[in-house]
Amino acid sequence: MDTNVSNSWEQRDMQAVFHGFTDLGTLNAEGPVILTHGDGIRVFDVHGKSYIDANSGLWNNVAGFNHQGIIDALCAQARKFPGYHAFFGRVADTTVALSEKLIELSPFDAGKVYYTNSGSEANDTVVKMLWMLHRRNGQPQRRKIITRVNAYHGVTVATASMTGKAYNAEFGLPLPGFLHADCPHYWRFGLEGETELEFSARLARNLEELILKEGPDTIAGMFAEPVQGAGGVIVPAEGYFEAIRPILRKYNIPFIADEVICGFGRTGEMWGSVKYDMQPDIIVASKCITAGYFPMGAVILGKAFCDALMKVSEEAEEFPHGFTAGGNPLGSAVALKSLAVIEDEGLLGNVNKVSGRFMARLKKLGEHKYAGEARGVGLMGAVEIVADKKTKQPLPGHLQISERIANKALKKGLICRPLGQAIVLGPPFIITEAEIDQIFDILEETVDEVFADVG
Ligand code: PLP
Repeated sequence: MDTNVSNSWEQRDMQAVFHGFTDLGTLNAEGPVILTHGDGIRVFDVHGKSYIDANSGLWNNVAGFNHQGIIDALCAQARKFPGYHAFFGRVADTTVALSEKLIELSPFDAGKVYYTNSGSEANDTVVKMLWMLHRRNGQPQRRKIITRVNAYHGVTVATASMTGKAYNAEFGLPLPGFLHADCPHYWRFGLEGETELEFSARLARNLEELILKEGPDTIAGMFAEPVQGAGGVIVPAEGYFEAIRPILRKYNIPFIADEVICGFGRTGEMWGSVKYDMQPDIIVASKCITAGYFPMGAVILGKAFCDALMKVSEEAEEFPHGFTAGGNPLGSAVALKSLAVIEDEGLLGNVNKVSGRFMARLKKLGEHKYAGEARGVGLMGAVEIVADKKTKQPLPGHLQISERIANKALKKGLICRPLGQAIVLGPPFIITEAEIDQIFDILEETVDEVFADVG
């Protein structure tokens, strides 16, 4: 921290900003990083130091930090019509155009699109859609929501309950009725001698047992990320979605793909649910939809679900739910341009072009003595640190190994994310192979230095 300068940006931050999801011990010891601007895949702090952001902000700044076309679209919309809502049947023309674009891009027969300001709000909205639909259809008991261990679906009370992370115990969550099925992480949870397909079949059997135990007519829906992102980039085991899909169909349980991270190209496909053949009824999108330049979440409803929800909403006079800034025209203009950039300026193509290099360097890092698994797809990846490659035993928690690696990398000008005992990477889609090499060169050096320190 720049403590020599009184009233420095760092000191002002420490006095004024309450950072969530921030290790406060590290913050107190190391100080915050105050950023002023970005250029390509780099961001710059108040002292002029530059950092490669190997996480695209929070997975979302996929076009880099100063894409002029998106900035221009934002400014043009600001001059034309900078703000409006989507209540009472009124909406900006730009938001209608975006909805048509999302319907066109969606991988299924889509009905309509509903807007929020974030991924959490979008998932939360779907929970209310499910509850209202079932209640109006004479099944008010159908309220239980299934997600999975290690899932991340957001931070509102409902979506934190859906998130399968231990830290939610701090809030006395999950609420009753939020159920967590198995995490499809074969490397961690596969049994001795069990093949990946057998693992997937076992998880599907467990899911069916859970549904039967709870009562199929009490389940409102199941949510799943194509690849669990904040869970540590958990790529689903082979055959996993193929195995669980028929069970959800059998019990008529709506299936929701949380594409907040995977949507719009992260896996190398436009949709993660296509990559893993999820065949969802609803898609939840956010993050890359505006390339990180504006807050937005979107619920894309499959036609059948949408028709059913419209019918009950008409019976109730309305779907009584909405966010003041949902469908804001600035966000819609930014999203329209961002999606055009991803599709037409070759960002999605670039993910596929450079993913080979990304995965090769990730696997090479995975050969490190203390790396248990290197996993990923497209431009998302993680390396899990272990005490012992064979037993997969984690290192003692007090070593805070992934935090140490991330903190040291930060000093070298690389932003990467510690998640549990994994280091997680998700660089912007504009990244070059040379920049991928830079990331991994720094990371390899950092990992060696940290293990030399730890002894
Ligand atoms: N769903 C997934 C898969 C996410 O990764 C996130 C955020 O990281 C969310 C939902 C919540 O989105 P937000 O932070 O915009 O509320």
